[in-house]
Amino acid sequence: PQLANQIAAGEVVERPASVLKELVENCLDAGASKIEIDVERGGSKALIVRDNGKGIPKAELELALARHATSKVSSLEDLESILSFGFRGEALASISSVARLTLSSRTQDASEAWQAYAEGREMAVQVKPTAHPVGTTVEVVDLFFNTPARRRFLRADKTEFTHIEEQLRRIALAKDEVHFTLRHNGKLVRQYRPARNERQKHQRLASICGSAFAERAFALRCSNDDLALTGFMALDDDRARVSDVQYFYVNGRVVRDKLVNHAVRQALEECGLSQAAGYVLYLTLDPHEVDVNVHPAKHEVRFHQARYVHDFILTALQQGLVARLE
Ligand code: ADP
Ligand code: MG
Repeated sequence: PQLANQIAAGEVVERPASVLKELVENCLDAGASKIEIDVERGGSKALIVRDNGKGIPKAELELALARHATSKVSSLEDLESILSFGFRGEALASISSVARLTLSSRTQDASEAWQAYAEGREMAVQVKPTAHPVGTTVEVVDLFFNTPARRRFLRADKTEFTHIEEQLRRIALAKDEVHFTLRHNGKLVRQYRPARNERQKHQRLASICGSAFAERAFALRCSNDDLALTGFMALDDDRARVSDVQYFYVNGRVVRDKLVNHAVRQALEECGLSQAAGYVLYLTLDPHEVDVNVHPAKHEVRFHQARYVHDFILTALQQGLVARLE
């Protein structure tokens, strides 16, 4: 199983930031409202993620490290309209095949916490009692220690940490109500506080996307029977360039799609603006109307009615821009 898991790991685990993505998505799936991330040496030495989610029952700890053990999909129908992040059931198994992974967890109704780790060629899972509050901690130590070829592909700690920060921004922008902290080598680097009202949302936007973006950002909100677009847009000016902030979410998942960039450019053009714009946009639609590539590292989407979606976004942006310019 170790070899099979290592092959699968090639898909899921490219670098520390991709490990972080999988771990944090699991925390969110578990309903966590607070997630603490500790990184050592760009994540190659250690990546520790703590949450206050529902925890993992002792009987399921061992399973959580086994390939294709997901508690999240029970039918193919589920897969089609999937809304929870995790559904492949192989992230933890893959990661534990290329690093030293320890899982510690306690559920609300358990009197004790338990710790699990996989060992040896056969990846036999050991489970023992430990101390832990309700929730889960995953520790990933010495990433790629047993796959030297991959370890050599890791960049300088600083670069890997930059990828981690970017990964966290993407996730934090999708989850306003969750408190995130990020430490590097023991030092607090980021703290994103939960945002419940408009003022707090604006503060959070500033801490995630920078104050230059937040100061220039104006809110967008537009919907019809099929589609809804909310979020923020900001224009470059001679004092600041904010157009490097570009995030587009479809049903809560960040995606890369030419369609939105095209709509942004066209909206600016039609409003007679020559500068570029940054944006944080959230599109919601019936999940059956969109295919999200299931490959964990890609963020591709295909809209069944691309033209319709494009024109809707264009109209929403134009309305926002017009209101702004007035
Ligand atoms: P998936 O998320 O695709 O189900 P993973 O390998 O990422 O697969 O995780 C395996 C299982 O471990 C999950 O289905 C879940 O039951 C459990 N799990 C992992 N991380 C957490 C966590 N932070 N809190 C609660 N349960 C978790
Ligand atoms: Mg997962």
